[in-house]
Amino acid sequence: MPERHPDTAAVHAGRFVVPLNPASSPPLFQASSYEFDDLEDVEDIYAGRRPGAIYGRYGGPNALQFESAIAELEGAEEAVGSSAGMSAIDAALRTNLGAGDAVVATRELYGGTHILLENDYRKAGVRVAYVDQQDPEAVAAALARERPKVLYVEALTNPLVHVADLPALARAAHAAGAILVVDATFATPVLVRPLAHGADLVVHSVGKYLGGHGDVGAGVLAGRADLVAAARDYLVRRGATLPHFEAWLALRGLRTLGLRMERHSANAAAVAAALAVDARVAALRHPSLPGHPQHAAAARLYPRGTGGILAFDLPGGRAAVDAFFRRLRMVAIVHSLGEVATTISYPAASSHRMLSADERRALGVGDGTVRVSCGIERAEDIVADLVQALDALGLARPGFAGLGQRVEA
Ligand code: PLP
Repeated sequence: MPERHPDTAAVHAGRFVVPLNPASSPPLFQASSYEFDDLEDVEDIYAGRRPGAIYGRYGGPNALQFESAIAELEGAEEAVGSSAGMSAIDAALRTNLGAGDAVVATRELYGGTHILLENDYRKAGVRVAYVDQQDPEAVAAALARERPKVLYVEALTNPLVHVADLPALARAAHAAGAILVVDATFATPVLVRPLAHGADLVVHSVGKYLGGHGDVGAGVLAGRADLVAAARDYLVRRGATLPHFEAWLALRGLRTLGLRMERHSANAAAVAAALAVDARVAALRHPSLPGHPQHAAAARLYPRGTGGILAFDLPGGRAAVDAFFRRLRMVAIVHSLGEVATTISYPAASSHRMLSADERRALGVGDGTVRVSCGIERAEDIVADLVQALDALGLARPGFAGLGQRVEA
């Protein structure tokens, strides 16, 4: 090649050369566009006859790697990544609902999903109805009344960790001509695979357990190829696909998912067991507790554990929660979950702040309800921090009459 002007060399020199042997971990492809050999190549790649990347918004190699990993983990035909859990939820719903259609959603819904349905779907002419997903008769009645296109549930609900009976919900949805869409953010595919229980689509906020380190903002949905293809087109049109670096981080996090979920689950069970005998907390919720309303369903559907989230109530409402939070030394107040470090949140001011106090109370989320996301530390250190903060509140010791509300599990 004739010697190029340094200005030209600066533009072209050192172009990417594919190494002969693969890297042992996925490289980051921080490129927004890809080259074609000729116009035949253009047509083949657009038509999917030949694998290839086109342009960042259509999805790059890192997104494809993450999507194929999730498809395998979920036992799905296809998966597509997105810019956030909310865009994955929106794509799953919007591609199956139009004006005049109905969706029946679980009443105990992540606040962001609730607000999406209330703001955007109602305005677009979609009928929205809510139901207690734990009540099979209420679900059957809502399906018969609304004839929805979609039944939308959460595998483990936010924040009270109810356990959805996925096989029964899938049967009910299909019998009514609806598809079942499951938000399995709290569960992840190493604990439960909703598609294997009959769901049509599963969605996740990837920034929680799948990413696992509190450094990813992304979403993913997986399921039947035709449903995922429609969702992918929708996400591409809206520019809500999965960016390269987020995909790379998410795949890196995924490598330890099995280990982390085992530890998260074991820690939450240990913390729940410790708090269950502490009369200073009430309405303690974790599916590992024998008194949990879906303890049997959890044992059947979640043989490896039910994840790191637990919730409980402090007598004294918001003021007691505020005082408790101020006294925590290790556990941080964080409006997310699923990180390696234990975090705590106050649903009334975070995930469920969009709801009125009455709406929250109807769900069982009270003024004193806190949600703990148990990390992967040693369980005894998590317990110690929670207990020292309870001690510092000056509440009576466990067993003292008059203070401890009944622990309901
Ligand atoms: N689903 C659940 C259960 C969540 O907790 C969240 C966020 O907290 C979402 C969906 C939304 O995900 P994202 O924040 O990634 O949009």
